[in-house]
Amino acid sequence: MDAKKIINQSNPLLEDKNDATPNIGGGLPIIEYWAKHTLSPEGAKLWQTLLHKSACLSCAWGTGGQKGGFTNENGEKLQRCMQSVEAISAEIKPSVPAAIFTENTIEQLQKLTSYEADRLGRLSFPMILREGQSHYARISWQEVYSIATDAFQKPPERVASYSSGRSSNEAAYLLQLMMRVLGSNNLADCSDLCHAPSTTGLKQMFGSGTSMVSLENLEKSDCVVLIGSNAAYNNPRVMNELIKLRDRGGKVIVINPIVEIGLVKFGSPAFPIKSLVPGSDIANLYLQPLPGSDVALFVGIQKYIIEQGLVKAAYLEAHTEGWEAVLESATSTSWETITNTCSVAKSEIESAAKLITSSQAVVFAWAMGVTHQANGVDNVFSIANTALITGNAGKAGAGTMPIRGHSNVQGFGSMGVTIHLKKEIKTALEKLLGRSLELASGYDTRKLIEAADAGKVDTLICLGGNLFSANPDSTQAKRALAKIDTVIYLATKPNLGHFHGLGKKNTIVIPVFARFENPHKTTSESGNNFVRLSDEGTTHLKDADLISEVEFLTQLAHRLHGVSPINWLKLQNPQYVRQLIAQTIPGYEKIAQIDETKEEFTISGRIFTKPKFPTPSGKAIMFATPLPDITLPTPEDFGVSESVPNIVIALITARSYSQHNTVVYKLDDKYRGMPHRNCILMNHKDAEKANLGDRALVTVQADAGKLENVEVIYGSVRQGAALMFYPEANAIFKARIDVRSGTPAFKRVGAIVYAQPISTL
Ligand code: SF4
Repeated sequence: MDAKKIINQSNPLLEDKNDATPNIGGGLPIIEYWAKHTLSPEGAKLWQTLLHKSACLSCAWGTGGQKGGFTNENGEKLQRCMQSVEAISAEIKPSVPAAIFTENTIEQLQKLTSYEADRLGRLSFPMILREGQSHYARISWQEVYSIATDAFQKPPERVASYSSGRSSNEAAYLLQLMMRVLGSNNLADCSDLCHAPSTTGLKQMFGSGTSMVSLENLEKSDCVVLIGSNAAYNNPRVMNELIKLRDRGGKVIVINPIVEIGLVKFGSPAFPIKSLVPGSDIANLYLQPLPGSDVALFVGIQKYIIEQGLVKAAYLEAHTEGWEAVLESATSTSWETITNTCSVAKSEIESAAKLITSSQAVVFAWAMGVTHQANGVDNVFSIANTALITGNAGKAGAGTMPIRGHSNVQGFGSMGVTIHLKKEIKTALEKLLGRSLELASGYDTRKLIEAADAGKVDTLICLGGNLFSANPDSTQAKRALAKIDTVIYLATKPNLGHFHGLGKKNTIVIPVFARFENPHKTTSESGNNFVRLSDEGTTHLKDADLISEVEFLTQLAHRLHGVSPINWLKLQNPQYVRQLIAQTIPGYEKIAQIDETKEEFTISGRIFTKPKFPTPSGKAIMFATPLPDITLPTPEDFGVSESVPNIVIALITARSYSQHNTVVYKLDDKYRGMPHRNCILMNHKDAEKANLGDRALVTVQADAGKLENVEVIYGSVRQGAALMFYPEANAIFKARIDVRSGTPAFKRVGAIVYAQPISTL
């Protein structure tokens, strides 16, 4: 049956589903993509890399490693997706021609889009942009270390790092160790901009901030609630698990303001006969709350369960604390308040509650639709409260499962790259260093930008990532970075940060090996807490002057700290780094033997199949969750005259299909029917309210600026919400921040849409 018809029948909000978009997610375009790349000149290298024993570069669902490129931790085959090919394909491009940098001024390079910057190829030599110079210039390693060493001879509170989940556990561990020996706790990380609310919320509730569900356990579930996630593109192999769940009679509830076609029906190459072409049904129930209103929806689910007498009272009494306040809060919140806040009908909320309570083992999975909110931690609390009320935490096949983005983003947190260092790790590091670590409260990513903007940061080292593009309010990010004397980027490919995120005196770009090229083994951690070992490899780049991150960091640390109490040069052999990780990182003890045994492992103490949690009492701690204020600004707040037809919407900024974090692989988004990056996906009823037709050109304005000539695309987004692409839309808003996690509300931005530019009003 036509998926679009199913959607349209079941949800009147979606009458205008764009007919030009595919009827299923995934499907034959995946095979076409693989075939095209296999037959291209890079085909041989692509397959060599896919078959290399290293972890997938792309998302944190995790595959590859010692079992081979296509095998997951359960030994299942055909577990590699198109997104991983996109990531490898970008890394096996030739070097950026040196002439790009000698013949183009920085102003010219700043005109490149994210897509164009990535297409330039691989960075292959160290380079510097000095104050007053117009061009990046090649620089010797001797001078790199000289500038970097001088730059770090500053008071510890004035130096900082930023990192992304691209690098290895070993590089992450060395980065935090180097910074902590300096006395700095300014360890900003890309997770501050994505799953920090999950870590913060889950740690408070369960004493552990990661998924409590292993892949093995997910396969025992009979219901998955998928909230604020577009796993159909961002973590495609999750779809295989949902297809298998549906095959064994399980149920899938999707909660997302946008109907993502792949979450309705998905064609998976892992099941070539039954799924690839016809597609497999995914969602049994698809709810579309207003962006940022998930707490109301989950309180509604809880309320129905309470009203029906279906609360697992004995479980709550035995295994949780604080449940009384949660039940009381849900009971005393009126249905009218709940449905007005989330804008989902009571009958739909009841349907979700019935599916959950009639299932034996429910997994609650979520991504950034939940965390990119001003009440991100409350969202996580409300989801986990629902899991606990139904007895779905601490048993096989059930639990809470944040779905992580970048392949080793979780490993960075485990390695101590965080401003909230775990007490056990701090104690272990103090023992290692033979001195106490009195760590001042450090800068997370947003605080780093604020501090830099206030002139409080002299030196910044970025281990991967794109700090400039990833932040809201691009104008502020650029201005802030320009107040830092020295900015050092370690990267495999150019990105807009290298052209816009320029330091005041020196901007240095260090070219590093990709994961499958490192001259030594490395490890990484999946979102399901599985540690993979990646073999050493070689690079295809001829005459390239690359360095491994482990070597660069140990060389720099050696120059800064000498040989005592740590012999940094000895740590150039990552085997020794792994010994230190085993000594100091809880749950990572097995990494000490991984070089000999090659045994990849699940981190101990993270997967809960019994309702006993690592909190002081051993019980889960529940928190009542206030409903969010979902009031939007008025047209007057934007200075737009009443006479101009307009609509104020909750803008969701999101990645397109064919995009990994800030890296854009393709300009269009076929699955949502968006032909280019400067589009806004709107519900047709909203557009018509503002006298806007499909394909109209509009201005979209928020509190930090506006984008003009934005093309309206009618699509299956709920009324009151609209979608634009991240990171381009970051230019126009400041974003509210979730105070408990520091994460910006990228997915609920008050914005106004109107036909004329404001200057013509
Ligand atoms: S789902 Fe994620 S880990 Fe698995 S192959 Fe795709 S990108 Fe890689």
